[in-house]
Amino acid sequence: MGTVTPLAATYDQARSRFVAGANAAGATVTTHAHHLTGPDGGELAIDVADLGPADASDVVLVVSGTHGVEGFAGSALQSQWLSDATADRPDGTRLVMVHALNPFGFAWVQRVNEDNVDLNRNFIDWNQPLPANPDYDLLIADLVPDTWDEQTQQRTTASLLEHMKRLGAAQAKSVISRGQYSQPHGIFYGGSGPTWSNRWMRTWLPAELARCRRLVVIDLHTGLGPWGHGEFIVHLGSTDPAHQRAAALWGEVRSPTDGNSVSTLLTGDWLDALDGMLAGTEITSTALEFGTVDPATVVQALRADAWLHAHGNPTGPDAPGIRAEVRAAFADDDPSWIATLWEQFERAMAAALQRP
Ligand SMILES: [Zn+2]
Repeated sequence: MGTVTPLAATYDQARSRFVAGANAAGATVTTHAHHLTGPDGGELAIDVADLGPADASDVVLVVSGTHGVEGFAGSALQSQWLSDATADRPDGTRLVMVHALNPFGFAWVQRVNEDNVDLNRNFIDWNQPLPANPDYDLLIADLVPDTWDEQTQQRTTASLLEHMKRLGAAQAKSVISRGQYSQPHGIFYGGSGPTWSNRWMRTWLPAELARCRRLVVIDLHTGLGPWGHGEFIVHLGSTDPAHQRAAALWGEVRSPTDGNSVSTLLTGDWLDALDGMLAGTEITSTALEFGTVDPATVVQALRADAWLHAHGNPTGPDAPGIRAEVRAAFADDDPSWIATLWEQFERAMAAALQRP
């Protein structure tokens, strides 16, 4: 095996590498343009690389950048696989790689999208009453204050710690991060309707995978768990056949439903909405989550970013520092980090493609 390419510096660079890797692998590449642009005025898009027979009943789908900035790692893994490991693909299986499901967040180095929406809180059933999270409203003034000077950060962080003491650690984590639909400037906001990426997925996926009978999905994430460690997260608990299929492929899988995952139980996770998009297809999916830094540092970066976009100037003097803080919380430029991820991803792909 060759060396692992370091993370791209920008979304544009990551995208170029992905498209070049896909072309070199002989994949068909389709581009789905986004209506907005990146910080430098560059084009944004979801790019899809497609390998293998279009009518295959077995499909493996790998998605990066559901959470924008987390695409630095996801994109690197996809591109590396296209460059290094394409030959390991069995002939009858179709492999589809979706690059940058949330291209705006990736380019602007944010976890959220153009509407400050967390895509993995946006795939709720919008015909039903919104999931309630009343305790969140008590935290918003401290989570995303109007100003972000040193003094405000100290005051609001101390106040949040008080709230967390009152709620208890597990409940506080759930209130803050499971998803909320009442504070459009807050963190972990689920939106007020299906976002651009959500509408794209719901249109593209059923049309593209109409002939698929068995689908395996790996959605690539970063920011939770110990440094460099990959956790296979399955929404459904261990008594569910989809969970058992995932465990058969990847070994140890964890579930927020069982309470043993680094993730709390979410509302509006896109993988959880897949069954409704592909009736009659057997779906085995996982969010493969790689750790970076400690949770407090991650939340601090998300608060800074939310403040920048709600009350600050995303193209002003505060922006580069906050963007660097967010990037560092979700992507480590230490070459040993991406090398550690690559070993785990390569094994996960081999299992998904049912190759020993
Ligand atoms: Zn994520």
